[in-house]
Amino acid sequence: MILRMSTLFVRTLRDDPADAEVPSHKLLVRAGYIRRSAPGIYTWLPLGLRVLRKVEQIIRDEMDAIGAQELLFPALLPRAPYDASGRWTEYGDGIFRLKDRKGDDYLLGPTHEEMFTLVVKDLYSSYKDLPLSIYQIQTKYRDEARPRAGVLRGREFVMKDSYSFDVDDAGLQASYEKHRDAYIRIFDKLGFEYVIVKAQAGAMGGSKSEEFLARLAVGEDTYVRCSRCDYAANVEAVDTPAPAPASYDGLPAAHAEQTPDTPTIDTLVAHLDEAYPRSDGRAWTAADTLKNVVFSVRHPDGRTEAVAVGLPGDREVDTKRLEAELGEGVVFEPLTEAEFAARPTLTKGYIGPGALGEDKPAGVRYLLDPRVVEGTRWVTGADVHGSHVLDLVAGRDFTGDGTIDVGEVRDGDPCPVCGASDGGVLESARGIEMGHIFQLGRKFADALDLKVLDENGKLVTVTMGSYGIGPSRAVAAIAEGTLDEQGLCWPRHVAPADVHLVATGKDEAVFAAAERIATELHAQGVEVLYDDRPKVSPGVKFKDAEIIGVPTIVVVGRNLAEGTVEVRDRRTGEREEVAAEHVVDHVVRVVRA
Ligand code: ATP
Ligand code: MG
Repeated sequence: MILRMSTLFVRTLRDDPADAEVPSHKLLVRAGYIRRSAPGIYTWLPLGLRVLRKVEQIIRDEMDAIGAQELLFPALLPRAPYDASGRWTEYGDGIFRLKDRKGDDYLLGPTHEEMFTLVVKDLYSSYKDLPLSIYQIQTKYRDEARPRAGVLRGREFVMKDSYSFDVDDAGLQASYEKHRDAYIRIFDKLGFEYVIVKAQAGAMGGSKSEEFLARLAVGEDTYVRCSRCDYAANVEAVDTPAPAPASYDGLPAAHAEQTPDTPTIDTLVAHLDEAYPRSDGRAWTAADTLKNVVFSVRHPDGRTEAVAVGLPGDREVDTKRLEAELGEGVVFEPLTEAEFAARPTLTKGYIGPGALGEDKPAGVRYLLDPRVVEGTRWVTGADVHGSHVLDLVAGRDFTGDGTIDVGEVRDGDPCPVCGASDGGVLESARGIEMGHIFQLGRKFADALDLKVLDENGKLVTVTMGSYGIGPSRAVAAIAEGTLDEQGLCWPRHVAPADVHLVATGKDEAVFAAAERIATELHAQGVEVLYDDRPKVSPGVKFKDAEIIGVPTIVVVGRNLAEGTVEVRDRRTGEREEVAAEHVVDHVVRVVRA
């Protein structure tokens, strides 16, 4: 292939687009890769489309290599399957809905679990047909609340989604591992820094889920990693290690004390230091207090309840972790004044374990942070205005209805894997989700009744895995991770061309030599972007080559008179004079290296 700058449909721009904040977004627009059509909706221009197609091909090759088979679903989908799975309503404002001329409901597919499940149900009926993995590379639609950074988070975007179908859990595990390995090969090849994090499995519980995050400061996801071992997890998925339970023999009995005007933890700690100094000599801290936060919770089936979270007073409840813990479709808010009023045993600002628990008059389900283990000693509300209890011991004086791990995760918290043994601590970093692999289990097969006959002629529900990657997001992430002050700077596997050949000046001989080099490179299977524009200054051509970001730049110009051309490495800026007669071999070697 030879792309000629004289005819290529591209216009590089000097100014940043007004709506762009993220560097990759600015450069993809300025270098002529994408154009905005509407908020979060982009047109792929020839250069951009070439990169997108290369990313897709890398993914396709690895999917094919694990025996997954490509098919293609429509983007315009009927409502019924999404009603059956509950997602027509669950998605809320997140999907594009439309009606046909008869008034029937349709949606633009945000993801295709339902359709994949139904097509397998349609065609297969026996365990002998499984395992099966099928995938598509297709345009998805989500009415994202905050589309941003160009194609990084679009409302229309490309996704590769694959699904595995197995008769049993061991089969699912094997399909999952195959996809995981393929994803590692894909991300290694795409050429950006990534980390595999344990993700939260949501309401499905127990099932395994991992995300591949690009390590980018512009990412919207916060994850934590261990300072010592290779543990990494989404903040939602961090399991707080519980300390070992301790004996409470010999601990003093609990005692309620007057703590007037101490509705906040800070005022309480200050008052304790003054009125009840600790016997061990150290000062009281917020972590010595047990804070009880009450929420009103509404479940998807309409059921409501009050739930209290008891956690060390130096931590807030992380609402994202609570959301993940409560499960899909569950909504919650702090208990309202009216709900407080309806529960007179709850004393706002002084709520303690004494009033909490399903068996108490207020009927509040009481869930404890994992740090609140048997034998731990707390200062907490005495359920009387202006009073707290000291030396209240977990296991001896109170218990919860269960545990819940929704306290905020902080830098320096012990690593759940090696914190106890090696002292590893968590540190947070930013990333963006590039891929997600997920053991779905039987959720969709149950909802849509996908069953096959097993070896004994018995109907069994199929178990599924789902595996997604966003090729369009990947283009932005790769650009973001590789660009420099001069412009885009593509890794070789995804660059829109292998070589950017620039002919400078007005000399006929220069253009003739460049033309010959382009033709010979092309004959060797090298993709050439050839700047053959006759009346454009060398300065403009070099600037364009820099911003477009093809990894190797060959300049044919003045030095041709001495029989040499210049070969530049776009990334390092290294320049080399190469004999014109050897340049084709030289470039082929560089490109194939
Ligand atoms: P995010 O948390 O970033 O919104 P998600 O959890 O909604 O992502 P999935 O539903 O798991 O994403 O979709 C699979 C893949 O599709 C993601 O890993 C990502 O690469 C891509 N993707 C999802 N939403 C978008 C989007 N709005 N624009 C571009 N790519 C997207
Ligand atoms: Mg996800």
